Amino acid sequence: MQPILRQGDTEIYRIEEYRIPMLPVTEMFLDTDRLRPQIAELGPLDYDPSSDQLVMSSSSYLVRRGQTVILFDTGVGNDKPRARSIWNQLSTTWLDELSAIVDPADVDFVVSTHLHCDHVGWNTVMNEEGEWVPTFPNARYLFNELDREFITSDAATVMLERNGDFRADSITPVFDAGVADIVPLPYEICPGVELVHAPGDTPGHMIARISDPESSTPLALITGDALHHVLQVPFPWLTSSFCSLRQVAEDTRRSVLAECADTGIPMLAGHVASHDLLYIERTPDGQFRVAAPDIPIQPGETP
Ligand SMILES: [Zn+2]
Repeated sequence: MQPILRQGDTEIYRIEEYRIPMLPVTEMFLDTDRLRPQIAELGPLDYDPSSDQLVMSSSSYLVRRGQTVILFDTGVGNDKPRARSIWNQLSTTWLDELSAIVDPADVDFVVSTHLHCDHVGWNTVMNEEGEWVPTFPNARYLFNELDREFITSDAATVMLERNGDFRADSITPVFDAGVADIVPLPYEICPGVELVHAPGDTPGHMIARISDPESSTPLALITGDALHHVLQVPFPWLTSSFCSLRQVAEDTRRSVLAECADTGIPMLAGHVASHDLLYIERTPDGQFRVAAPDIPIQPGETP
């Protein structure tokens, strides 16, 4: 697998768990009636007209900087009991694909941008005794206090009942194994890789700012679920029905879009199937749009 971005001694890989028409438009977003013409114009990697479903990816990003390996978001995971049928007892080659890039024992840090069930799954695998144990035995798993409070709150109980108890099989075992750290925000994992609070989808949702460690030149933004779909680029007021804090989520999304537009760095948006590197630009009237792929505004060398 080739990296989606390479600059100096930094490589970023996208590891996809799936890419499928997955969610009816009206399940993902409320208030889309007036956007029907724009939805109809979306390409086949963003929208499936035959089922009226949005195409979604589930992606992780592996950042390798010198000897340091950091994994962002761990998907749904295999063999986990889930209420949503496409997630239930999922079986994909995600771990094989990751292992072709790096030995799982060499992953140093694992970060879930937020504690939703499609971002924590590969935190654990089942051992021969039938116990869920950390997939990356030598990694520190980084969490923040706000999302730890969120996942143990009454509100989370409803979510866990709706989705399947991903806290029990994908989060608690990491704490029980003693490999979890609660970190303050912002938090520098290593030079040029910084976790930043970007609340909305959950109270403790984080993004990761990747920059050149020597020059501090920005390279990319790993945006978690600050943006679920390209439809939210021109229409940032669209907020997913899964967000905890709707207005905060919109404010975060606008700020992430502005940062990418103003610096020219790409968003790495794990649910967006159509773009590995999602470049954003401003329209003449101050709105946002996806930058045309032939606009040479990439900061770094890409393969
Ligand atoms: Zn998600």
